[in-house]
Amino acid sequence: MAAWPYSTKAWLSLRKAKLSDQPLCEACLRREVVELARAVDHVVAINKGGDPFPPLDGLMSLCFPCHNSKTRRVDSADSKGGSRFKGCDVNGNPIDPDDDWYA
Ligand SMILES: [Zn+2]
Repeated sequence: MAAWPYSTKAWLSLRKAKLSDQPLCEACLRREVVELARAVDHVVAINKGGDPFPPLDGLMSLCFPCHNSKTRRVDSADSKGGSRFKGCDVNGNPIDPDDDWYA
């Protein structure tokens, strides 16, 4: 059983809403890679003070590799912060959605 809030009906319906709003991995899209999203990620992790049930734009649709990479780089206890995704998109902008250009 997944930990709270991932086991709640509220999360499951929020997750479903997000995936129907954005069925593709948002990080891959920035590299012009079309990959089906399999995970819905909190832009601000709950353990960093993020809203567990944010509006849809507080969530990101991600494929498993991107989700794992983001989780490893940002959400792990020993994370030192920094970019959650390596590299740049096709326009040379950083992939990390926390950067200023992302609005
Ligand atoms: Zn991806």
